[in-house]
Amino acid sequence: MGIHHGHILRVLRDEGPQSRAALSRRAKLSATTLTHVTAQLLREGYIRENETNGAARVGRPAQAVRLVADAARVAGVHIGAGHVQVAITDLKAEPKAMASFEFDIDSADPDRVVERVAASVAGLAAEIQVDAASLLGVGVGVPGPVDTDRRRALASINVGWRDLPMADKLEHAIGLPVVVEHNVSAMALAESRYGIGRGVPALLYVYVKTGLGAGLVVDGAVFRPGGYGAVELGHIQMTADGALCSCGNTGCLETFVCERTLMNAAGLQGAAPADLIARVERNRPAWDAVTRHLTTALASAVNLLTPDLIVFGGHLGQAPDSLFEKLRADLPPRVMPHMRDVLRIERATFGPAGGALGGAALALDHFFYSGALH
Ligand SMILES: [Zn+2]
Repeated sequence: MGIHHGHILRVLRDEGPQSRAALSRRAKLSATTLTHVTAQLLREGYIRENETNGAARVGRPAQAVRLVADAARVAGVHIGAGHVQVAITDLKAEPKAMASFEFDIDSADPDRVVERVAASVAGLAAEIQVDAASLLGVGVGVPGPVDTDRRRALASINVGWRDLPMADKLEHAIGLPVVVEHNVSAMALAESRYGIGRGVPALLYVYVKTGLGAGLVVDGAVFRPGGYGAVELGHIQMTADGALCSCGNTGCLETFVCERTLMNAAGLQGAAPADLIARVERNRPAWDAVTRHLTTALASAVNLLTPDLIVFGGHLGQAPDSLFEKLRADLPPRVMPHMRDVLRIERATFGPAGGALGGAALALDHFFYSGALH
């Protein structure tokens, strides 16, 4: 397959079934090229063609071409601090099987984590009776900045990994092509392709779990300033004399809004509950501090990056509506006037599954819709 195949498939994914004539116009391909490309896609089972009811008045009925989402599968992997999530999805990032496991971040041997990811993908494939070797590829989101050309996780601080050749290791373990990306950027990509961010020019994804990560997708592509792509919102310095941050600096946003701080504010110990932010809200001074710092940092992010949409995931994605109402009221007055009417703040579409679906979105982009596989 090539670039035209990917283009046709993307149009069918994003805009649904349509006639050959509409597809030819939309994909800006000649009838001859379209015939050639669709013939191959039909033969390989990636598209199907059905007669549409009453679409044509005379002569041959118009044919509606549609994407067959079940024609192939990819695997998506999210690696967080001590937590891994794996999914196998169809060609529209719809999960068919999911699994997760925990690992100890104080002794996080990357080879062991990679082995367990490979075993998890194989197990999920068996569960849905798919030959693992038939998967198109694997997309992996890892913590911290990524060198996507050298396919390495450069600095996963919370896990203690540096300059790790994640894609090479996983390809070796799993026998499938692998693509690697910063984990929150992958989640932003999934929302931009398949979720609430469809058609949005600039989407900023803010994810709070162990740390505070962010990802930015601009015009459908992960924003990668300087080559590494992580938008380090969590390390905007709020105050120079604040607590020591995992990055080595002091007073970063992440020191005010991360799982440990939120758990302390809620007076909790052990595993974080799903309603962690709602529990923080009951502690008024802590709630005020969290929302104040978040609003201040987001105001800077909005003025610098001009996102049309900010999407919250992780603990923020499970926050009560009151957090969204507060930010929708407090943030606009603090950004440039032209951004006030544009900006939306929403919950992530994919909830706790968002990490693995981020990995799947990466794999789909790379191994299917770009035509890179063939
Ligand atoms: Zn920091």
